[in-house]
Amino acid sequence: MKRRTFLSVAGAAGLASAATPTASAAPGPWKDGKRWVYSITYDEGAQDLLKHAVPLHRSYGVPGHVALVSSQIGVPRNVPGSTYHGMMILNREEIQGLAREGWGFSCHSMTHVSTSFENGQVEVADARKTLEDAIGLPITVFTVPGSNAGHPASLHFAPLGGYSAIMTIYDWTNTRETDLLWLGRCPIHSEYPAPFYSKFDPYKRLQQAKAESGWIIDYCHCPIPGTALHPAKDCTSEELEARFKAVKEIGGDEVWLAEPNEVVAFLLEDAESKRLRVHPAVPEAMVLNEEMRALYKQRR
Ligand SMILES: [Zn+2]
Repeated sequence: MKRRTFLSVAGAAGLASAATPTASAAPGPWKDGKRWVYSITYDEGAQDLLKHAVPLHRSYGVPGHVALVSSQIGVPRNVPGSTYHGMMILNREEIQGLAREGWGFSCHSMTHVSTSFENGQVEVADARKTLEDAIGLPITVFTVPGSNAGHPASLHFAPLGGYSAIMTIYDWTNTRETDLLWLGRCPIHSEYPAPFYSKFDPYKRLQQAKAESGWIIDYCHCPIPGTALHPAKDCTSEELEARFKAVKEIGGDEVWLAEPNEVVAFLLEDAESKRLRVHPAVPEAMVLNEEMRALYKQRR
């Protein structure tokens, strides 16, 4: 129908509804025409995920992802000083069971020390094969342990180790333009440290991801009921459920609920995404903080 004819038939009310996006609008840029992407990751892989997170994933239809320390599969976590020290880690059978439900996995270094140019061959590159052998599944994503201070060395060693993507804890929403070695993650935590003590927000970054056709990768560790194990590193299982509800509310049928390896595989194949990523990221364009920028200037 031509616009003039349409207006004369439908009047002003018709114009208003014509301006409202509908399900028949042009398809989004992601898999199956989805308009934006939601993923969630759990670092360390505590066995308690089976009790407090996996059931929520099943009821909301969200696939999960675990970043695993290669040398610590099916044993109590051995990272003294960590909030999660001593917690039992998922074993090979449990990990393969989650894989059958659509979960994915990444390497979170060999021993969880901060990645450096001195230890990167072992902690990043060699850790990939160690983890693949331990869990019997392919690994192509590296998840920087500790803080983003380990990212510069990870940038050097991850390609040498055969990884195709790196997840950091830079708090931003990824788009199809984001360099796959610079993937940000969105912390969903009960309360941040000083000076803002920001409280949990189930809607964090969801509208942004929707507006920018972006990709959110949530970051937490091991949600439990009641009070978070560490308020700046985790949410509670009640907050996790509120997050999933918010994703469904904002995303409806437009959001691709995806496991990060799936999204990386899509981005590596999709012609338009490849074109958007043609220039590798430079630290000066990604980070404003001078101390962080300086870290990217170090070399062996
Ligand atoms: Zn960690």
